[in-house]
Amino acid sequence: MYKEDVTQALENERALNALLRRLAGRSDLVPALEECLDIVLQVSWLSIEPRGGIFLTGADGRTLELVVDRGLDPPLRTICARVPFGRCLCGRAAASRAVQYASCIDGRHENRFPGMPPHGHYNVPILWGETVLGVMVLYLPQGHPRSEAEVMFLRSVADIVSLVIRQITSQGRLEDAHRELEMMANTDVLTGLPNRRFLLTRLEEETAEADRFDRPLAFLLMDIDHFKQVNDRHGHMAGDEVLRHVGRIIQANLRRYDIAARYGGEEFAIAFPNCERDAAHAVASRIRERLEEDGVELSDEETLRVTASFGLVARRPGEAIEDMIRRADEALYEAKNGGRNRVVCA
Ligand code: GH3
Ligand code: MG
Ligand code: MG
Repeated sequence: MYKEDVTQALENERALNALLRRLAGRSDLVPALEECLDIVLQVSWLSIEPRGGIFLTGADGRTLELVVDRGLDPPLRTICARVPFGRCLCGRAAASRAVQYASCIDGRHENRFPGMPPHGHYNVPILWGETVLGVMVLYLPQGHPRSEAEVMFLRSVADIVSLVIRQITSQGRLEDAHRELEMMANTDVLTGLPNRRFLLTRLEEETAEADRFDRPLAFLLMDIDHFKQVNDRHGHMAGDEVLRHVGRIIQANLRRYDIAARYGGEEFAIAFPNCERDAAHAVASRIRERLEEDGVELSDEETLRVTASFGLVARRPGEAIEDMIRRADEALYEAKNGGRNRVVCA
């Protein structure tokens, strides 16, 4: 991950966390949706204009109703008050259950008015399983290319909005909703480990503590060696099983205050609060050894062993999270170059 990516990821975490915090325990749907939209519009790396809206699916299940808008051109408030599924970009997002993207006002943009200023769109369906609960529409500067990073982030926002709508409208227990939201937002589904989002949030807290009390903190990145070959030779399901296996080994070797996460595809990370590098090194070495020894039983006859490479750093006092992660990534790269299946300290 490059520095810009980490900065961007951190900003995403903060925005999604803000959504979770502000929406927990809410029972007022429209103001909650207004806050969602405002939080999204404030994310600085997104190349969206500060205007947009949220539609909810009407009682007929085939029409979108505009319930929240920010900065919409006044004629659109009327034209888009009710949009049938299939019409215009928002209707198409609802009908297809897929994100719509437009770089300019093209033929799909059926709801328009004379003199409408040029713009593009992301139209993001808010889904609950197969059910379309609504659509979030955002404005782009004309000509802005589609960005997968932006689409992924907006999908995460739509997932959170979906849970909020469902819980508020079904009068579900809000404490349960909050717990569900937090779990979903913080956990990697495949391994059950915390995800990168959770790790970054905790790192913000832990680095602040480390600075405040002048405490050490170590950070580790690990990456499974030649993992692509596992998928290629044994299939994606076996690959998934290996990821779960590695997750279990990591978990079994953590100490009480260590924080592990699935950091990306076949990358894992561990933060060691209040811990010197040598003690963290011992944990990394244990994990490395266990991986060498314990295999994954693919079948009665076949056991698969994988190794991993590790990059470990001691955080420098006051060091930014992005810089610390970049150094760990460099150490990991060195471990790969040095022949893999090893721990490199930087
Ligand atoms: P290296 O030793 O240099 O780390 O090589 P590698 O093959 O481990 O690394 P590479 O980055 O080339 O490949 C990582 C692969 O991990 C590619 C991707 O398809 C796979 N992958 C990522 N996420 C998942 C997942 O959730 N499940 C499975 N089965 N595979 C995944
Ligand atoms: Mg990798
Ligand atoms: Mg790898």
